[in-house]
Parts: sequence; C-alpha cells; structure tokens
Amino acid sequence: MKIAVLPGDGIGPEIVSEAVKVLRALDLRLEMEHALVGGAAYEAYGHPLPPATLSLCKSADAVLFGAVGDPKYDRLARELRPEQAILGLRKHLQLFANFRPAICYELLSHASSLRPELVAGLDILIIRELTGDIYFGQPRGRRVSPDGDFAGAPEAFDTMRYARPEIERIAHVAFQAATKRGQRKCVTSVDKANVLETSQFWRDVVNEVHAFYPDIALEHMYVDNAAMQLVRAPKKFDVIVTGNMFGDILSDEAAILTGSIGMLPSASLNDTGLGLYEPSHGSAPDIAGKGLANPLATILSAAMMLRFSLDQAQAADRVEAAVKAVISRGLRTDDIYSEGCSRVGTQPMGDAVVAHL
Ligand code: NAD
Repeated sequence: MKIAVLPGDGIGPEIVSEAVKVLRALDLRLEMEHALVGGAAYEAYGHPLPPATLSLCKSADAVLFGAVGDPKYDRLARELRPEQAILGLRKHLQLFANFRPAICYELLSHASSLRPELVAGLDILIIRELTGDIYFGQPRGRRVSPDGDFAGAPEAFDTMRYARPEIERIAHVAFQAATKRGQRKCVTSVDKANVLETSQFWRDVVNEVHAFYPDIALEHMYVDNAAMQLVRAPKKFDVIVTGNMFGDILSDEAAILTGSIGMLPSASLNDTGLGLYEPSHGSAPDIAGKGLANPLATILSAAMMLRFSLDQAQAADRVEAAVKAVISRGLRTDDIYSEGCSRVGTQPMGDAVVAHL
C-alpha cells in the first residue's frame, strides 16, 4: 500500500511526522513517499502543487496531508498561493466525498459549547458531497431581472443542480461508511425536499440506493430540523449524508460541538477509494516550529485512511483506541489542556500513542 505524504507548511511537518511514526508502529506493509506541497513547494519549484507531487498522489492508494499556508504568501497571485494546492488536489483527484467526523471524548467534553452530558461520547460522521450543488451549478451570474415583481431590477442567481450519478455515488459512500463504522448502522440523509426539486430528486435517488444496503437504516431529515437536532441531541445521529451547501454548514456546526480544533480529522474520497486525509485545522503559523501543535487530528486522519482507503479497519480501531488511551491518561497538548492534566508537546504526544500501540 502506497501513501503519498505531503507535510506542507507551518505545523504540517511536525504533526505529519507524528502520524507517520504511528503508521510505522502498526507493522503493516506501507510504502510512504514524501513530496512538497503548498508554500514549501512554491519555494522549491515556484508552484504550490508541482507536477511531481500531483503524479505521486495519483499513483498512491492514499494521501496523508498536513496543512498549507502562511501569511507571507498572501500577496502572491491567487493561483500561486499555498491553499490552491488543496483545490487542485480535489479537482485532479475528483475527491467528491468529504468525511468529517465529530468525535467528543468524555474527558474533553468541557471544551464544547454545549453541556458536557449532551456531547460526551459523541461519535458522528458527516459526509458532504463536495463537487456539485449550488456551488458549481450553471448558469449563474448577474443580469437585469426579466420578469416578476422586480422586472427591470438588477439581480443575481445561482443554480442548484444534482445529476443522478452524483447522488448515487455519494449515497453509496454513506451507506458503506455506516457499514464499516459498525455502530448504529443508520444513515440520516439531509435535504430540503419540502421546498426544493433538487432535494426531492436527492431523496428519491438515496431511497433507490438504500435498497442495496438492507442492514442499514435510512431516515430523511429536513436541513432546518437537522441543524436543530445537532445541538439538541447530537448523539442520536450516526452517519449524516448531505449536499455540498447543507454539508458545508452542518459540518462546521458539528465540529464546534466537540470544542477542539486540534482533535478533528477529515477525509476527501473519490470513487476509486483514493482519499486525501488531513486534519480539519490549518497550518497554525503562530505555533509552528515550537513543538506545541496537537498531532492527534492528523493521527486520527491516518486512522481514517487505514479504514477508508487501505481496508485496515482493525488497525484503524487500534489507533483510535490508542488516542483515547493517551487522553484517558491525562496527556494534553496546550490546546486541550485543563488543570490537573500533564502538559506535553507534539513529539511526546505522538510517542505516547506509539507506546500505547
Ligand atoms: P488554523 O487552523 O491554522 O489556526 C487557528 C488557531 O488554532 C490558531 O491559534 C492555531 O494555533 C490553533 N491550532 C490549529 N491547529 C492546531 C493544532 N493542531 N494544535 C494546536 N493548536 C492548533 O487557522 P488560521 O490561523 O485561520 O490559518 C492559518 C493558515 O492555515 C492560513 O494560511 C490558512 O489559509 C491556512 N489553512 C489551511 C488549511 C489546510 O491546509 N487545509 C485549512 C485552514 C486554513
């Protein structure tokens, strides 16, 4: 199994090397090849996503990505900025399925904006369609309104649009993820079918795909209700699948439930199983090079990679259990520190996960 390792900028190299250490401790046959991306690639090759990096990713089974970006590149032309590397990878690798788990460890539940009892033990997965919907639908633009109450006034418009194969493939991904998670085996499909034709179509197609997965329960929920239920009783969910725009909003809402940016992994997958795995946070230039960054989001991203791209669910379970164990032992990086715990840096945190494994 070949992994393209792209550490990137800022804290990227520090957190990725801890995740690599954890992967090496698993005794799997993993070939890991490093390449430059983001600002680091711009410095070396004049482009944030050089052809060699892209072709390495295309030839790999999975990509482990740190983070990119630094304020010093803010004045570069947009296409040369480090963040363009992520958009380029999404586009070239056709990463249409974005996975964002929201996991809240019992011992970190005080960091949530909700009451601890509502979020302690939370473990839900939001799957967002990433390459369609109103963000990409054509036509879009501005014009003079041709008719209606405001005929003759300037107006702007976007088009919400989904093609059947786009819905089918994201629905399959969601049902398969629910199967692999082995928890409540329930998918909640979120839409606005009471108002939008696109959503009614989404709902019809998800129902059809559901027929292939008799062991998985399916429920449909309107997006306004889903937004409410996520803060009322988030633990009732297992897997949520939704379109690009609703997913954009709900995944951020769910992330904040857990209270800690240094703990949140993410994955973006295509239909060959190739995926890009990265922490949800950025390159944190304010703490880069100081050994303060929390590597757990990246280590948990590596666990997702084992489960979703490399078919190593047991190894993924082991890594996730090891992360829980170091949290239970009271080890905390700065971002999750609370009184009475042991404050540790990036490397000792990675070492503790390896020691547990
Ligand atoms: P950020 O996520 O990098 O940092 C926000 C805050 O969280 C900072 O105080 C940082 O110190 C802290 N933080 C982030 N990750 C942490 C970790 N693992 N451990 C401890 N603390 C952590 O967001 P930002 O400051 O808005 O952006 C910084 C740079 O990152 C920008 O150039 C931005 O464009 C880029 N960015 C990249 C990605 C990505 O690579 N996918 C995502 C978001 C932002």
